[in-house]
Amino acid sequence: MWTWSQASQTELESCHPALQQVLHQALLLSPFDLRILEGHRDENTQTALFRAGRSQLRWPHSKHNSMPSRAVDIIPLPLDWANTFAFHVMCGVMYAAAARIDLTAQGWRLRTGQDWNGNWRNTDQSFHDAPHFELIALED
Ligand SMILES: [Zn+2]
Repeated sequence: MWTWSQASQTELESCHPALQQVLHQALLLSPFDLRILEGHRDENTQTALFRAGRSQLRWPHSKHNSMPSRAVDIIPLPLDWANTFAFHVMCGVMYAAAARIDLTAQGWRLRTGQDWNGNWRNTDQSFHDAPHFELIALED
C-alpha cells in the first residue's frame, strides 16, 4: 500500500476536493507508487512554464491557476520519462479511480494531457502532457 510523501501531500492539499478524492483512490489502485508534482501553480511559475513552452496557457488560464486547483501533475515512481507505458498505466488508474468514486455524480469528468480531446487516442495530439489531469465541469 502506497502513501503520499510529505511533498505530495502538500500539493494534494492545494487541489479541489473532488480531485483529491480521485488521487486518493488512484493511489489505492496503483501498482506502483505515485508522486504529486504540482497542484496549484502561482503566477510566476505559470509565466515561467509558458515562456519555456512547457505550458500552452498564460496565467490565469491554466486549471492549475485556480484555488483550489482543478489540475494536478503526477508521475509514476520510480520516474523514467522514457517509459511511456507507466504513464499510460497511471492514466488508466486515474480514470478507474474517477469511476470508482463516481466523479460524474459530483458534476465533473476527468481530462488528461495524454488525450486532450478525450477520444481515447494519443496519436492526434500536438502537445503531450503525460503527468497532467484536470477536472472539467460536465456543464462546460
Ligand atoms: Zn498540469
